[in-house]
Amino acid sequence: MKKYKIALLKGDGIGPEITEQALRVLGKIGEIYGVQFEYREGLIGGIAIDEMGTPLPDETLELCRDSDAILLGAVGGPKWDNLPTDKRPEKGLLKIRKELDLYANLRPAKVWDALVAASPLKEDVVKGTDMLVIRELTSGIYYGEPRGIFEEGGKRYAVNTMKYTEEEIRRVVRKGFEIAKKRRRKLTSVDKANVLEVSALWRQVVEEEKKNFPDVELEYLYVDNCAMQLVRRPTTFDVIVTGNIFGDILSDEAGVVVGSLGMLPSASIGDKYALYEPVHGSAPDIAGKGIANPIATILSAAMMLKYSFGMDKAYDLIEKSVEETLNQGYRTPDIWSEGLIKVGTKEITDKILENIERFKGEYV
Ligand code: NAD
Repeated sequence: MKKYKIALLKGDGIGPEITEQALRVLGKIGEIYGVQFEYREGLIGGIAIDEMGTPLPDETLELCRDSDAILLGAVGGPKWDNLPTDKRPEKGLLKIRKELDLYANLRPAKVWDALVAASPLKEDVVKGTDMLVIRELTSGIYYGEPRGIFEEGGKRYAVNTMKYTEEEIRRVVRKGFEIAKKRRRKLTSVDKANVLEVSALWRQVVEEEKKNFPDVELEYLYVDNCAMQLVRRPTTFDVIVTGNIFGDILSDEAGVVVGSLGMLPSASIGDKYALYEPVHGSAPDIAGKGIANPIATILSAAMMLKYSFGMDKAYDLIEKSVEETLNQGYRTPDIWSEGLIKVGTKEITDKILENIERFKGEYV
């Protein structure tokens, strides 16, 4: 039997409740596909500050390095809000991404038919949207040197540097092509090549990589145009690949098009390690009430199956079962509306598990 070691970082707030549900789904998938998942828990975020005095203890990092994949809940909460920036729970997340060189951040944004009304866009514009934004995560203007606020002749000025090496561009662009190839074979590369030299190099590298993926359709968009097209014609996008700062903004925009935070999964992938987590935070306002939406975390676990373990069918089975659960009318309070069936964190997972059982024969 195939065995995978998963580092489990539950984190704070609703983190423990939602990861628990994802594990129930993974348990079921393990039974169906004859795979064994071994979990080892590590501390991150506020709970790590409380117990170890740091948001990312070395032990956690070691555990992650010794695992096949990492599943994370969420970090942060009001208890730690007044700590200095470099001691806060979120610092643990930044550090883990950098330490493990998780350079490609994948954010799928899918509009589920049953939730189409949750989108701020008109139904006829948004129905059928199913895209994935890949953001370069460990370089670009957020990391470039020199940086700082300086003073000259009694006047302040500030500097940030957008720098990308050829290799940093190539590895994330290649991920974009590879993932597009497994989806609907369309890649949109986003830059600001009319103004920035970094973008000019970005395009050169995309052109070079394109030769290795002749069956993937390639489109270039300037970032300002892309921001417009995302709300004008969201259904025409498949995979978008872009640098750190543009991706930061565009992935949030793509998330808003979907309309519900509790539904958005993500993956941060490097060449050796990969971390899967919901896009939302620790939702301290509803923690412990049993009403958090676990779907973003369940879908993050599904991404782990697909991108780390090559279990594409299992991913499809989970996605289908989530979709069917929504079609049957089950909703956690965050996505509930009149006439639908309001259920809690555990109950909605029960329904997803029932649907996995029901559809498993179609995804072998
Ligand atoms: P949040 O995403 O935690 O919550 C925003 C709103 O969405 C809240 O009303 C919350 O109840 C709701 N919500 C979020 N996820 C939900 C879910 N799964 N089911 C139902 N409702 C859900 O953002 P916030 O309130 O700005 O931040 C809370 C804490 O989380 C802060 O400490 C913040 O720094 C941290 N945070 C962590 C991450 C992360 O771990 N990746 C991301 C964002 C924010």
